[in-house]
Amino acid sequence: MYQPIDALASLGGDPLAFLSVASIIFVFFFGHFLVAASVPYLFLWVWGRERILHRRIQQKPRRRAQPMREFLFSSLSVVVFSVLLTMVLWITSLGYTRVYFEVDSLGWGYWCLSIVAMAVVHDTYYYWAHRWMHHPRVFRHVHKLHHQFGDPTPYASYAFHPLEAIVEVAWFLPLALVLPLHPGAVAVYVVILTVLNVISHMGYEFYPVSVGRYFITSTHHNLHHSRPRGHFMLYFNLWDRLMGTNHADYEEVMREVVTRPPCGAGTPAWRALSSSR
Ligand SMILES: [Zn+2]
Ligand SMILES: [Zn+2]
Repeated sequence: MYQPIDALASLGGDPLAFLSVASIIFVFFFGHFLVAASVPYLFLWVWGRERILHRRIQQKPRRRAQPMREFLFSSLSVVVFSVLLTMVLWITSLGYTRVYFEVDSLGWGYWCLSIVAMAVVHDTYYYWAHRWMHHPRVFRHVHKLHHQFGDPTPYASYAFHPLEAIVEVAWFLPLALVLPLHPGAVAVYVVILTVLNVISHMGYEFYPVSVGRYFITSTHHNLHHSRPRGHFMLYFNLWDRLMGTNHADYEEVMREVVTRPPCGAGTPAWRALSSSR
């Protein structure tokens, strides 16, 4: 009978097998990222550029070349993620992780619960890793690149320096060493992560202010890009609240964005805001 764990046993000694598995992970990762980022980009930044301009958080012209740079660096990060996840599978084949392949062995209830556990662990890890990456000595080597995009589009979701890409995924191996994780649950978690990360980098706001009190919104993370001294969280507005790192005017900014009247097409303000450099 076919056993996935046996198929992974060659990962350590066969570069071609390693490359094949890394390529499969890359196609999955890159494919869903491309769709998740392109749909809102085309809807908001191309079709809606003038039609939904009033919901754009930063009301200023944007550099035309930026999305391509964001896309290239995000693609590079996906390569790094794919190699690191293949290494986790290799470590699994050596018997060191608690990754399992039979869903029935722990049941679907646990399968779903493990996705929630990944979100909670990743969220807490991300807050503290993100604050560490803002330390002046670390920032310029690791995290500065992501902050080059002061007014991000969905393509900036994974636009990291390769060193940051390693930091971003470093929580996963320690968790896989102690918590049983099914590859299918990990795949679902990665898709959820991508979609929520894209929403954070959308540059447009559609949530009501009440959502922003408990969850990370596009405005929350956009403010981190324009004012990096606060707003370090990934999913839940928990650690930022506990540690006092939410900007005092966060809800005020969000309310201003979601209650703006639509821009009058053809007015000087509309022309100024819809132009790109
Ligand atoms: Zn960001
Ligand atoms: Zn940052």
